[in-house]
Amino acid sequence: MKRQIVLVMSIVIGLIFTCSPISIASVKERHEYEQTGKVFWEANTEEANIALTFDDGPHPANTPELLDILKAYHVKATFFVVGKLAEEYPEIVQRMIDEGHEVANHTYSHHYDEAVTKDVLMEEIDHTNQILSETVGIRPTYFRPVGGYYTDAIIDAALDLDQNVLLWSWHQDPRDWAGTPTKKIVSHIIEHAQAGDVVLLHDGGGDRQETLRAVKLVIPILKHQGYQFVTASELLQPNPLME
Ligand SMILES: [Zn+2]
Repeated sequence: MKRQIVLVMSIVIGLIFTCSPISIASVKERHEYEQTGKVFWEANTEEANIALTFDDGPHPANTPELLDILKAYHVKATFFVVGKLAEEYPEIVQRMIDEGHEVANHTYSHHYDEAVTKDVLMEEIDHTNQILSETVGIRPTYFRPVGGYYTDAIIDAALDLDQNVLLWSWHQDPRDWAGTPTKKIVSHIIEHAQAGDVVLLHDGGGDRQETLRAVKLVIPILKHQGYQFVTASELLQPNPLME
């Protein structure tokens, strides 16, 4: 009987090892990446600044509508654009720039893979930067990994290309990408708001009417509470001359 148990156990253990991936992506604790001074989730500040960030665009319908809303409220935001969409809709990216928003890099193909290699990701980031340079004449300084994954390979790829990495405040993902209704997006952002926040929202990836309506409601409430909306660069690397 005992021998049978030992046999079964050794088969189970054998299976566990053979089923394990050959190499698991190497990941450090968040603070170790933050210590580089180039990887951020939010700003450590007491100033009432908040950065609204929008991923996965430009989108031919949602993004112009969002830009209209931001313009009406004199709010500057940061757009983490997908390179192949920027290639398709350069006029929308140009409008972001003309209206004072920050354009940042979110890979070329929205490459969603925690185990992405450094080489593949460097190609994705670099290709997007080349498109932005050729079409609208800018070079982003911030990169946001798809899915919020951060591994040594992902961080190294970005830093080697001289990009800062910006994830988002973990308390500021209202899950607008999951079809969350407007009311819930609004209450989530308002209830969790604090100085230095980086709010994760999406202008691409599908219908974003709930997000657009939420933005319209959130901005005046937070402004009334004394918050200012700034771009990623303004939030994380304030110009000392402006202080
Ligand atoms: Zn994304």
